[in-house]
Amino acid sequence: MGKVYDVAIVGGGIAGYTAALTAKHLLLDYIWLGESLFGGKLRAAETVTNFPAIAGAGADFVEALERQQTREGVHFTKARIDGIYASGGKFLLTSGAETFESRSAILATGLEVKGRLKGENEFLGRGVSYCAVCDGALYRGKRIAAVLSSAAFEEEAEYLARFAEKVYCYCLYPGNNLHGERVEVCSGIPLAVEGTDRVNRLITSEGAVPVSGVFLLKECAPPQALVGGLHTDGTHVSVNRDLSTNLPGLFAAGDVTGRPYQYAKAAGEGCVAAHSARAFLRQTHEKSD
Ligand SMILES: Cc1cc2nc3c(=O)[nH]c(=O)nc-3n(C[C@H](O)[C@H](O)[C@H](O)COP(=O)(O)OP(=O)(O)OC[C@H]3O[C@@H](n4cnc5c(N)ncnc54)[C@H](O)[C@@H]3O)c2cc1C
Repeated sequence: MGKVYDVAIVGGGIAGYTAALTAKHLLLDYIWLGESLFGGKLRAAETVTNFPAIAGAGADFVEALERQQTREGVHFTKARIDGIYASGGKFLLTSGAETFESRSAILATGLEVKGRLKGENEFLGRGVSYCAVCDGALYRGKRIAAVLSSAAFEEEAEYLARFAEKVYCYCLYPGNNLHGERVEVCSGIPLAVEGTDRVNRLITSEGAVPVSGVFLLKECAPPQALVGGLHTDGTHVSVNRDLSTNLPGLFAAGDVTGRPYQYAKAAGEGCVAAHSARAFLRQTHEKSD
């Protein structure tokens, strides 16, 4: 058996960072995992004026965070987590073939509301998937669609073609470098996923495409797709004041728990979640200071 961490923190944004920084100061044995470090939204901000002691572009904010992260020795592990499973008082986190184990976990995966397809939530687990490695083999010999949010997902789309009869690829970015006999790059903008008990077509701006499954390959999957049995309001993780979820030992922080979507709220929640994880560990595993 591999190492079991006190806490696994998922998400390389400000909520995940503050949780990792706090976990380090609380002397927890943590692992901080994320698709990218301080990526996306942090860098995208034109000017940040509402966070204590910061006045400048998002890129300057990131620089300041990187300096602090190095100074404090907060270790980051680059990994896109595709599943979190709770079993026997532990969490198993998977990233392709790689796995991580922990006694508690903090979900700080942010939120991607923009760009959701109609029917995406409704057909989750019934033909809608966010992970080629997890679900690709279920579509052996079938026709499927893949909606790629960036070129980073081209390898996953090509992987799907190892199983599927045909993968219709919709690239939401200019240019692509997709290859494969069974890969077809399509024009048109995906609008909705439709079906009866399961997905049977993708609706695009150029018409309906009959498919058995739709893979939405994007950075941020909805939290309920990542963790089975997690209570949400459909969009946000339902949390208590200490940021605990309905799953014992699992906490959530940042945009993923709801509004306001702001750095200060995300950072504050990251801190609270780490303290709550420590309290949980002390109760359940009698971890001493
Ligand atoms: C253009 C823009 C400007 C903004 N300007 C401001 C501002 O000026 N002031 C302000 O207060 N707020 C601003 N915001 C809002 C602010 O960016 C968010 O509230 C904040 O970034 C939330 O932090 P977070 O850590 O919860 O989520 P995020 O910053 O979204 O970070 C989540 C991270 O988790 C990663 N992740 C997701 N799923 C997985 C997975 N399965 N495995 C591994 N990693 C994963 C993502 O890649 C991402 O890096 C702005 C937002 C945008 C888009």
